[in-house]
Amino acid sequence: MQIRLANPNLQLDSIVDGEGIRCVLWTQGCIHNCKGCHNPHTHSFSEGHLVDIEEIKEQILEASSYHDGVTFSGGDPMCQAGACLEIAKFCQENNINVWCYTGYTYEELITRAKTNLKIMEFLKNIDVLIDGKFVLEKKSLDVKFRGSTNQRIIDVQRSLVEEKTVLVDKYNVEIKKEYITKPKYMFV
Ligand code: SF4
Repeated sequence: MQIRLANPNLQLDSIVDGEGIRCVLWTQGCIHNCKGCHNPHTHSFSEGHLVDIEEIKEQILEASSYHDGVTFSGGDPMCQAGACLEIAKFCQENNINVWCYTGYTYEELITRAKTNLKIMEFLKNIDVLIDGKFVLEKKSLDVKFRGSTNQRIIDVQRSLVEEKTVLVDKYNVEIKKEYITKPKYMFV
């Protein structure tokens, strides 16, 4: 199986894309078209590099001894949920934690997961999700690991078990109540 990436290799040593020192997988392809996006070159679904996911797994394993985890970014990794889930599953099997950025909200993903099992499987292998589009009017340098204040840092496994959106408290002190929703989900 292949994955379309903006950069054919893992980015190493990132300290801004999640907790600790992280490897980042820059996926290619995004539908959200956020105004002010800092990565417009990752939007096209025909550009970038097609890479075998086995190569990515090897790179992840090699880097795992001196990194704290893997972060999926882009682009929107949810647009390639099938390939991303295989890599995320591999990370979990090797005790490597997984963070993921997406332009969808968590609630939108849960709705999509009812008809797209790969999204649900990918979610089941993500520890922390940073959700929502980048909103230029809400841009802030004060929110950790995010670009704008509407984006949330979500504990995915607790959210799935508790059937509501559970934020990682230590990062979300700046989030206003209006962004916290508690829907009941129907699982597929
Ligand atoms: S979701 Fe991310 S990559 Fe996609 S347009 Fe928005 S900011 Fe850019």
